[in-house]
Amino acid sequence: MNKEQNLIVVSGPSGSGKDTVVKALMEKYPTVEISVSATTREKRPGEKEGVNYYYMSVSDFEKKLADGEILEHTCYCGNYYGTPKAEVDYRIEHNIPVVLVIEVEGAKNIKKQYPHSTTVFVRPPSYEELSNRLRGRGTENEEVIQVRLARAVEEMEYAVDYDYVIVNDAVEDCVEELYAIIEQSRK
Ligand code: 5GP
Repeated sequence: MNKEQNLIVVSGPSGSGKDTVVKALMEKYPTVEISVSATTREKRPGEKEGVNYYYMSVSDFEKKLADGEILEHTCYCGNYYGTPKAEVDYRIEHNIPVVLVIEVEGAKNIKKQYPHSTTVFVRPPSYEELSNRLRGRGTENEEVIQVRLARAVEEMEYAVDYDYVIVNDAVEDCVEELYAIIEQSRK
């Protein structure tokens, strides 16, 4: 087995429910670990430093970039997001399955650097459902929701580039599908 096969990249538009699916996966299958990204966006209520993200200023993020500590990064809806090298290298080296939950540009970038990684796209069941989930979350204002919806429509077109596409109509089913993909990918 190539060690890069431990790397699973999950993408999906904002509101696809990918974070809920990955969180449920970690709870059910704790041998699978998640890479915590760095971001310059504001912490949402209930989020925790080092659990959801490493929150930092733009200048700190740019310093990490310049120091080569970030594997890939993007600017998403006005904020930086990036995968710290340290989150990935150690796990790959020690054969620990690791999931990266990142947007489409980042996923492309990782696949280029780690061709043996596996990419999974999580789709919402419909546009209406996506819109309802974004609004139902109640954490973003209407302007941000509109930007995220527009970006979500764009992102949906990238699904064809992924190794697998799964539809999130029921979280438990999606968790099982994703776990089966992880198991399969590490053979
Ligand atoms: P949110 O602000 O909703 O937490 O994340 C916005 C988007 O950024 C999501 O699609 C999320 O998966 C993506 N994202 C989070 N961390 C990273 C990262 O390290 N790199 C990239 N490329 N995207 C990320």
